[in-house]
Amino acid sequence: MINNNNFNLQPISIAEVFDSIQGEGKYVGVKQIFVRVAGCPLECDYCDTDYTVKDSFNVNGMAFYKNPANAGHIFDILSAHFFFAEYHSISITGGEPLLYPVFLREFSEISPAKLFLETSGYDPAGILDIAPYFDFLSIDLKTDIEPFGRHADELLAAAALLPPEKMYLKMALRPDTKADESVKTAAGLFEKHNIKEVWLQPVDNIFNPEKTAGWQSIFRQYGVDARFVPQIHKFLKIR
Ligand code: SF4
Repeated sequence: MINNNNFNLQPISIAEVFDSIQGEGKYVGVKQIFVRVAGCPLECDYCDTDYTVKDSFNVNGMAFYKNPANAGHIFDILSAHFFFAEYHSISITGGEPLLYPVFLREFSEISPAKLFLETSGYDPAGILDIAPYFDFLSIDLKTDIEPFGRHADELLAAAALLPPEKMYLKMALRPDTKADESVKTAAGLFEKHNIKEVWLQPVDNIFNPEKTAGWQSIFRQYGVDARFVPQIHKFLKIR
């Protein structure tokens, strides 16, 4: 049942809603509701996510709802499908949620559960603005994707201002020789900004013991604990 008081809220396009376990990073394995927003300003060549804007979106591949939808609509839809106490948090993922700061703030005000943001990190200032409204922040370092190359220092400076118990950084790594160089650059910036942990995630999702040990050694030299965590939802063949 859609709340009739919702008309003033910002409408955005949603790509899909589903529940599953978190497949990446520090909170891998926790049970979440995922709200995937449509749209992304980046064009990662390894992207496997359908974030295109469509006329409608579905919940767990079954119930269909019209786009655009606002925070009130999403609240009503989630309430109809999920029992919030069963979940660790609601993950707002994408696409790129930071494209919609007004929606994020509005949803945070009515969210019935803890809120988890998954962002590409493309907008460091935007992360700082929205951080107070979220309980958990997962930020990606896209080592070979612009604008990471241009604003890595700015992004890590912003990340360093966030509470470490709330924010964590993942780093996507390609299985090529550039990865070593990216790790060295990133490790130096982690040290500069006194960030002590990173979750490494090869984009091919393959565990290469030699490469992984090498990347971890480089980070270790800069005082950073680097954890290898592949995307487990792909191994499990779930969303
Ligand atoms: S930031 Fe994420 S959603 Fe956007 S293109 Fe890259 S992998 Fe895909």
